[in-house]
Amino acid sequence: MSNYIRKDAKIFVAGHRGLAGSAIVRKLRSLGYENLLLRTRQEVDLLDSNAVSSFFAEQRPDFVFLAAAKVGGILANRNFPADFIAQNLRIQSNVIESAYRAQVKRLLFLGSSCIYPKLARQPMGEDQLLTGPLEFTNRSYAVAKIAGIELCWAFNRQHGTEYLAAMPTNLYGLGDNYDLESSHVLPALIRKVHEAKQCGNRTVTVWGTGTPLREFLFSDDMADACVFLLNLPKDEFHKLTGNPEMAPLVNVGSGSELTIGELAKKVCEVLEFDGEIVFDTTKPDGTPRKLMDSSKLFSFGWKPKISIEEGIRIAYAEFSGKSQSPVEDVNERTSSHESKNRARDSVALDRSDCADPGQRQRN
Ligand code: GDP
Repeated sequence: MSNYIRKDAKIFVAGHRGLAGSAIVRKLRSLGYENLLLRTRQEVDLLDSNAVSSFFAEQRPDFVFLAAAKVGGILANRNFPADFIAQNLRIQSNVIESAYRAQVKRLLFLGSSCIYPKLARQPMGEDQLLTGPLEFTNRSYAVAKIAGIELCWAFNRQHGTEYLAAMPTNLYGLGDNYDLESSHVLPALIRKVHEAKQCGNRTVTVWGTGTPLREFLFSDDMADACVFLLNLPKDEFHKLTGNPEMAPLVNVGSGSELTIGELAKKVCEVLEFDGEIVFDTTKPDGTPRKLMDSSKLFSFGWKPKISIEEGIRIAYAEFSGKSQSPVEDVNERTSSHESKNRARDSVALDRSDCADPGQRQRN
């Protein structure tokens, strides 16, 4: 990894308690970056433009990772579209405008693969942006993230800033959200299979038809890629952010995909559950396929390190409170109590929880 960012640089990680932000903090600390600016929502509310502007004016960070966002799985996106668009628009414009005024050297904005059209050519390269209609279930969130990319691009063009938008594929990892109503598929499956085992159930319910294809990336791999990108030498970084004709956009994926049915089988294997997988086709499938083309990122020499089986094993070790993972020590130091408690709470079942397996979520 090249070292554009000096070890004593002041780095603001917005959203440091979330899945992505906490992984970025772990990565930065493991590389010896200690001058990290971390603020809880109570300390600096990113929805409040005055609070954000004062914070940047006082602290003047050198670098920013913008990992703060309102995020959620397919049902949360479908049920709360107004929250997803309104909050994300505010967070990103508050942070990006304040970063500009505070003369931040480089900023990395995190988005999502759902910015690409529902029926985008596969694998989806960065050039697929705004080439067709979006998937309906997460359209509001996607439009906010597209606006974030546009903000980075517009500031780069008008002000010569160096803001880069990184679009990770479906993430999972330490400190994930295991709430069945708002989570993404992988933590939901880990929880459902764990609970089926605990309750002695023979079936586990998976939403949709099981046929959609998804690509997954462990959050620490994503963090590794983000720090790698922001650390690129000047000429290489400039290739990504300095071309007015090209969005400052990089896909961050693993390059491999599997169906939701195959994913469910993998989770059952890793958790050693030999019951039956049942599909609830009243739940939405979402977009049929979203494999990203990450060749731009790979061309700089980066590649993911954690396989899906290993990632599920590490995530499950944390979820079940028996962490023996290689990242455990780092995680113990840095992950928020909130996320650990969330994981542990969700492991504690009482008998009434077993009554209606896999169906306790509303909707
Ligand atoms: P998406 O990638 O934006 O569609 O978000 P999700 O991670 O929420 O869902 C991915 C796919 O997994 C969709 O086809 C869901 O229907 C399917 N899926 C299967 N079981 C579950 C579950 O228990 N929770 C969630 N969130 N998705 C599930």
